[in-house]
Amino acid sequence: MRTVIKGGTVVTASDTYTADVLIDDEQIAAIGQNLAGDMTIDANGMYVIPGGIDVHTHLDMPFGGTTSSDNFFTGHQAAAFGGTTTHIDFAIQGKGMSLKETLDAWHGRARGKAVIDYGFHIAITDLNEAVMEELPYCIDYGTTSVKLFMAYKGALMVDDETLFRAMQQAAKHGFLICVHAENGDAIDVLIRQALEAGHTEPKYHALTRPPELEAEATYRAIRLSEVAGSPLYVVHLTNAGALEAVQLARGRGAPIYAETCVQYFFFTKDDLDRPGFEGAKWVCSPPYREVSDQQALWKGVADNSLQVISTDHCPFWYEGGIDGRPAGKELGKGNFAKIPNGCPGIEDRMKVLYTAGVRGGKFSINRWVELCCTNPARLFGMYPKKGVIAPGSDADIVIWNPEATATISAATQHMTTDYNLYEGMEVVGLPQMVFSRGRLLVDGDTWKGEAGSGVFVHRKPFKV
Ligand SMILES: [Zn+2]
Repeated sequence: MRTVIKGGTVVTASDTYTADVLIDDEQIAAIGQNLAGDMTIDANGMYVIPGGIDVHTHLDMPFGGTTSSDNFFTGHQAAAFGGTTTHIDFAIQGKGMSLKETLDAWHGRARGKAVIDYGFHIAITDLNEAVMEELPYCIDYGTTSVKLFMAYKGALMVDDETLFRAMQQAAKHGFLICVHAENGDAIDVLIRQALEAGHTEPKYHALTRPPELEAEATYRAIRLSEVAGSPLYVVHLTNAGALEAVQLARGRGAPIYAETCVQYFFFTKDDLDRPGFEGAKWVCSPPYREVSDQQALWKGVADNSLQVISTDHCPFWYEGGIDGRPAGKELGKGNFAKIPNGCPGIEDRMKVLYTAGVRGGKFSINRWVELCCTNPARLFGMYPKKGVIAPGSDADIVIWNPEATATISAATQHMTTDYNLYEGMEVVGLPQMVFSRGRLLVDGDTWKGEAGSGVFVHRKPFKV
């Protein structure tokens, strides 16, 4: 079956031009003029872009006595409705588990449900000697990035020795170390002191995780990676101080990369101080910062200090534990430290950034594609299979209608939560048709996908 997308404006990280795109089965067969196929789709007036790639998500993830509320079907469906066709999720090692066992467990979560293509980062929480020896096999497993947490003391956090030894292994074997950079020891002290003082409201989540502690951990991780000789990818960077650490490192030529997440452009720590318990909806780590940090981030993504915008999609119900829902944010009523950390966003990323970023004059449409599609593929071993419109690449294609409008609302979203951070926001520019490896998943408002059709992407080792 050959499908031609006719007369659209193809947008890549570097070019914008009018052409027909021919899809043959799962791949892009040709780009040119006057192409013909068995089926023709008129894309006049539309952009033809690579499917979005979200390299930071947490589907079906156990956290603090509950699980994130989207699984590998609902989360994928929401992603596709938002123009995202590939994601990388975190397979989180349980205490005493091998990396293989960890990955098998996460493959099990995706099996029979996946609709878009997916990969895994391995999140290491227990780096014993057996796991240290197993680390090089990540490459064989096709999971060529390893995440370590410098925060969540007593749960996910690793110490500097562990982080440093993993970096040495990464340097030797060609995988990419990803860090959640916050000083977990100091945060632990601040949380205890806040609770002892009777400060239990959601806003104390932000106040006990100040930006300096993210900047410090970012700087420390960068310097450790320089000594170990490994590249480093800083996940969900939120503030000007942490950004400065990345800029300094990149300035001296160190292979340091960083992402921010879409929500950090839009919210501040004041959102956690909304009336009653509502601020809990905005609890994630690191927390929202100041308007001046938002401005630094916009500048950072435009000048390539930051290379990727992801979501850290990790939804929880605001009112969970009822109607068959898993427990949600209500777990932290009376104790901010027990609020499940995470926010929904996998469905909103592309449109919110098109509206505020491209139409808002923060960056070009090509940069939007680069930040949301191409760089994620390049940094995580999927390029040029993913992240670009080119002959031989997977036919992961979004036909983007730049004039379509919508109002974001929890009432109409596909993510499995009872709220949306961007509730009421008007967006201009929406996915019209979404293809994953040539299969039509979304046609306007209509779902065309089939559970189990998404596949695991066996990623290549890290190479700049
Ligand atoms: Zn995360």
